[in-house]
Amino acid sequence: RTPDGPAPLSPPTAGGLVSVRGAREHNLKNVSLEIPRDALVVFTGVSGSGKSSLAFGTLYAEAQRRYLESVAPYARRLFHQIGIPDVDAIDGLPPAVALQQQRGSPTTRSSVGSVTTLSNLLRMLYSRAGDYPSKQPLLYAESFSPNTPEGACPRCHGLGRVYEVTEQSLVPDDSLTIRERAIAAWPPAWHGQNLRDIVTTLGHDVDVPWRELPKKLRDWLLFTNEQPVVPVYPRLDREQVRQAIARKLPPDYMGTFTGAKRYVLETFAKTESASMKKRVAKYMVSSHCPECHGKRLNAAALSVTFAGLDISAISALPLKSLANIIAPYTQAHHASLLQLATGHPEKAIVTQRIAEDLAARLEVLLELGLGYLTLDRGTPTLSPGELQRLRLATQVRSNLFGVVYVLDEPSAGLHPADTEALLVTLQRLKQAGNSLFVVEHDPDVVRRADWIVDVGPGAGEKGGEILYSGPLTGLEKIKASQTSRHLFKKSGTHPPRTPRAPNQWLRLSGVTCNNLTDLHAAFPLGLFTTVTGISGSGKSSLVSHALVKLVAAGLGHQAPPAEDNGEELDRAEAAPCTGEIISGMETIKRLVQVDQKSIGRTPRSNLATYTGLFDPIRKAFAATPAARKRRYDAGRFSFNVAKGRCQNCQGEGWVFVELLFLPGVYAPCTVCQGTRYNSQTLEILYHGKNIAEVLNLTVDAAAEFFSGEPTISRPLAILQKVGLGYLRLGQPATELSGGEAQRIKLATELQRNARGHTLYVLDEPTTGLHPSDVETLMELLQGLVTAGHTVITVEHDMQVAAASDWVIDIGPGAGDEGGEIVAAGTPEEVAKASSSRTAGYLRKTMM
Ligand code: ADP
Ligand code: ADP
Ligand code: ZN
Ligand code: ZN
Repeated sequence: RTPDGPAPLSPPTAGGLVSVRGAREHNLKNVSLEIPRDALVVFTGVSGSGKSSLAFGTLYAEAQRRYLESVAPYARRLFHQIGIPDVDAIDGLPPAVALQQQRGSPTTRSSVGSVTTLSNLLRMLYSRAGDYPSKQPLLYAESFSPNTPEGACPRCHGLGRVYEVTEQSLVPDDSLTIRERAIAAWPPAWHGQNLRDIVTTLGHDVDVPWRELPKKLRDWLLFTNEQPVVPVYPRLDREQVRQAIARKLPPDYMGTFTGAKRYVLETFAKTESASMKKRVAKYMVSSHCPECHGKRLNAAALSVTFAGLDISAISALPLKSLANIIAPYTQAHHASLLQLATGHPEKAIVTQRIAEDLAARLEVLLELGLGYLTLDRGTPTLSPGELQRLRLATQVRSNLFGVVYVLDEPSAGLHPADTEALLVTLQRLKQAGNSLFVVEHDPDVVRRADWIVDVGPGAGEKGGEILYSGPLTGLEKIKASQTSRHLFKKSGTHPPRTPRAPNQWLRLSGVTCNNLTDLHAAFPLGLFTTVTGISGSGKSSLVSHALVKLVAAGLGHQAPPAEDNGEELDRAEAAPCTGEIISGMETIKRLVQVDQKSIGRTPRSNLATYTGLFDPIRKAFAATPAARKRRYDAGRFSFNVAKGRCQNCQGEGWVFVELLFLPGVYAPCTVCQGTRYNSQTLEILYHGKNIAEVLNLTVDAAAEFFSGEPTISRPLAILQKVGLGYLRLGQPATELSGGEAQRIKLATELQRNARGHTLYVLDEPTTGLHPSDVETLMELLQGLVTAGHTVITVEHDMQVAAASDWVIDIGPGAGDEGGEIVAAGTPEEVAKASSSRTAGYLRKTMM
């Protein structure tokens, strides 16, 4: 069945075939193909060509739909509306599990221990096999969880920190009067004025500086729990209010007083608005819980030890050390187990069983290069790639077989050395009798595939065809394939590049951040620098945390000018990064961090709103004669403004439907058919298209459609240049991958015409990019350097490292074994460094 070349030893099709007929999801052009089961199948093609539409949107979606139909017949109608992929037939499809990269940040608060289920095992170990102080009864496994009432520290309720307010935190500037908002923690706007008027009614002077008020009054205003209800006369002063009350004049309304502490704590605990929560969090001070010292558990749970450590201490160890502690307990003849067996034979058996399971699970995690993580590490602080590998490792131990695992660029965030380990894990899943469908760009993974499905030739409308489906070797002959061109590139096709020479430096000293301790680092200014190193070595700590923070501070910014989407609260616990800049700061005028954080968490933000394109587009609609006649202004064409949007779905295009026993689902709004607008708004046409149709255009199509409007077509051209021509203008922020979000930010930045020397910092900009897209991106970044700016990237792609002016390699290992600069110099110099794990891979690329 192999179309080209000699048959491989064990034909990849031995496990049977999945056959797809007539797939038309998104840009797929009614394609049909056959894919082997029980094989490693890699989907390749330029970004936007349709790989995910095939692997996730068609194959996974169909498997999911069949599963849901079998468990929930009553939900069939709904799933027909939403989840059903546009495909004629799929035969031979096993059940599927998707291990997609998290888009944006994970919503639930979980930890490495909970995602991998290792924490459950540890709790069992402590419950059944821990060392208890004499007379302390056995505890249930749940008693070792800070998330249960049985286990939580009573003082901090299992948070590990206590949140307090003080006069200083609630009133940052005590020279202000109450009228001047001395109590900064009180709510803003009307509600704040209301509280001021209530204080007036209560007979206090709101026009003296806070520090001159008597202590008793200050304490009452801030800390009381009393909520007196009093008449409010907003326009009257203290004396006039007194007279009004005496004369029994009717007040404007009755107002309820709330002390600042009560307001802050209640809002923090109850509000659902991230920005409100963030606002009040500013007025709280948090400190380590004095009772559990941040260990989150109560005294009984902490009194139980294993190998001399309480469960909180063992969860704070790197997984590598944990594995070393557990290892002896897996061997029946090991001294510690034999000793246990003499007194408590049943305990020895339990210990060995649990230890074996723990050890096996840990082994997979170490194999995937995650030994530097700790069980108590919160998932919001992990990169999407780390999270995907954690979930992958968990699957390897789940003993499922006959399943298709669908993965999305598992090599993201991996150094070439780590990618080797990833491939071992994928092989294990395959050998256990599973199929692997992987969307991937990394040539090292592509070369190991049993079968390639190459989608293309271009992106969006210009893609969506199957250029090739078969074993790797046959791909070489496919002329239209960009993947083929890069995979089978003759070495030496790249003329050797002469790096720009450094002459000015940005020098950091004493950098301490995560695993970096008192590190000195120098980045050449006006050059292109790539920071390399295996995952967990400390690249992001150095570049995205320490460097960004120090430069931002040097420029007088409070916080880094990165996207603010409410994630900071989750990260607030991480230890602060410190250090200083000893030279070079005078050159830098601006800092731009182009990261992979989502550009918005709601479908209300999209490509057009984020880039600012939506404004001139709405103006163009408002300027049409039909709109002018009806007096429709630009606001009318926003789905966020009441007058123009669909009332039924409030401009969302979707409505949430509750399902019995299942998570609710979103279904298209039946009133506007998902267009988001009301019918009057949709009657206005610009060059024959209504606003919803325009939002549905791809960037490529819109560039043509708006060619007469330079304010619109110019930014569109830049989006095309960063390889995003295939995105739709109205593509919700929630549908964009991290890599796409990053390129949108880059494009938005590029159209701004930077004034003054700018430092651009990028964390893995090639994620999600096909090698041919990487070439385009590099041209753009090199253009910034040519224009006199500085670019610093964290990258695993050796192509990027080789094309840089300067390379800084961090290592040698991960976590405690990393955090040093192993080599720094031109790519050629680093390729020769003997102690660098990057050197060998870099050499190979430069040959
Ligand atoms: P790839 O995985 O190769 O990068 P995708 O399958 O994600 O490509 O995208 C292929 C095309 O389908 C692109 O034009 C993209 O804009 C479009 N597309 C992706 N997701 C959606 C969606 N949810 N709705 C409509 N079009 C989409
Ligand atoms: P890289 O970017 O090279 O993959 P990182 O800088 O992300 O490495 O991580 C370096 C070390 O710091 C690792 O041991 C990692 O577990 C630790 N680390 C990174 N971020 C955090 C955090 N927010 N909290 C605790 N430890 C962290
Ligand atoms: Zn506590
Ligand atoms: Zn609607």
